[in-house]
Amino acid sequence: MQYVSTRGASERVTAAQAILRGLASDGGLFVPTEWPQLDWSWSALAQMNYQTLAARIFAAFLPDFSQEEIQGVVTAAYGDQWTNQAIVPLHSIGNQHYLELFHGPTLAFKDIALQALPHLVSLAAKKTGSTQDVAILTATSGDTGTAAMAGFADVAGTEITVLYPKAGISDIQRQQMVTERAKNAHVIGVEGNFDQAQRAVKALLGDSAFADVLRQENLRLSSANSINIGRLIPQIVYYFYGYGQLIQQGQVAPGQAINILVPTGNFGNMLAAYYAKQIGLPVANFQVASNENHVLTDFFATGCYDRRRDFVVTNAPAMDILVSSNLERLLYFTADRNPQTVQSAMQDLAATGSYQVDARVKANLADFRASWASQEAVLAQIRTTFETSGYLIDPHTAVAAAGYVAEGRPTLIAATASPYKFPQTVLKALGLPVQTGPAALTALSQATGTAVPTQLANLFEEPVRHQQVVAPNAIGQAVAAAFQHDESKEEKS
Ligand SMILES: *Cc1c(COP(=O)(O)O)cnc(C)c1O
Repeated sequence: MQYVSTRGASERVTAAQAILRGLASDGGLFVPTEWPQLDWSWSALAQMNYQTLAARIFAAFLPDFSQEEIQGVVTAAYGDQWTNQAIVPLHSIGNQHYLELFHGPTLAFKDIALQALPHLVSLAAKKTGSTQDVAILTATSGDTGTAAMAGFADVAGTEITVLYPKAGISDIQRQQMVTERAKNAHVIGVEGNFDQAQRAVKALLGDSAFADVLRQENLRLSSANSINIGRLIPQIVYYFYGYGQLIQQGQVAPGQAINILVPTGNFGNMLAAYYAKQIGLPVANFQVASNENHVLTDFFATGCYDRRRDFVVTNAPAMDILVSSNLERLLYFTADRNPQTVQSAMQDLAATGSYQVDARVKANLADFRASWASQEAVLAQIRTTFETSGYLIDPHTAVAAAGYVAEGRPTLIAATASPYKFPQTVLKALGLPVQTGPAALTALSQATGTAVPTQLANLFEEPVRHQQVVAPNAIGQAVAAAFQHDESKEEKS
């Protein structure tokens, strides 16, 4: 199995090359040339620990990595930096099964992939014989940046620059970012929104003059955004793990189909569930939950993807996205792997801001459902869920919960962040006085009888290390400067 571009470039690359490059040369995303065949024994799955399962799925998608290399990645990624031994425990309320993906270092599901990605990147560089260090450039809507820095922090041979939008992120997220202490991490605020930051990153990734600047620093550019297959593969694991837990707890019969409900932004998490189905997970429906930036809800309803609308900064900021990059991969598979379909859709999107899929693609999307929740609905959902079941959820998980449709089938719901990462919104939802900083954490803990995650214990005592904020048109220069004036290199030389 190798990887090819969704847009039809003739190159076929290994998994290592796909991880290092992030994007294909024609701007497309890398997809596997075939689905790996795995032999699932449901009774064995129900007994498997997270690490064993992860090694199995990684091996299937990374055929050019040795068993030992994969074991090394899994051991490093899923160790005691997780505050729950199961890594992703399940919390069930009737037929709704919340898969808690937020027990890692930065309290959001992105840690699952970003604790593994840096090790995959280092190995990939070694395997392809590269002598350059890897420069990671990432735009974040709040959670990716902190998770990426936590993953890449002080990983030898890597540098990371994170761009975050000033508008929309929570004070916990900002504090996590501006206090990052790793020497190889650079953090730049942008006077704008996530889409502007992401567009700047995509432009830089394809900019040969910028690549030349980095080459002089002995750096090659890569991305930790969810377009990288090294992000996607680790996310397939937890859907199988959740299913195994459901069997173990007697919630589903072995082989019984479930629904999967995911609060969606860039479509990475939902796409991983789709990949899981392709390699054997019994899934009946995929339920795509959006916030007020509901481009995807409209797309699944009409077959027309239309980004021409106002960007809304919502209380579920990690989902404030108008162009969901990973949808391109779903389009590729539902167009029966026809890259021309993808290419013309992406041309239309770039030229006019929208595209329409044909009847065949629409038919292949039949098992997708979509919903969206307003900011008021998010607040109401947090409150209702807590009042009726005592379970405290974060605003993103609430977007999903608000879209839950009882179909008489067990539903695995991706619980993507800890409520403590968004304490202002959660306090407001519960009708409590909104506070900031550490007082908000204490207030939330006292009002709900839940514990402040240990990951946040000293957050507000850390000194601010990154102050820079730039206009969108100055991003290129600022990023180049960050990679050029590198503290860790200066110390080495
Ligand atoms: C990133 C993020 C999402 C959206 O995930 P995608 O893979 O981009 O669709 C949802 N919830 C939280 C908390 C996130 O950090």
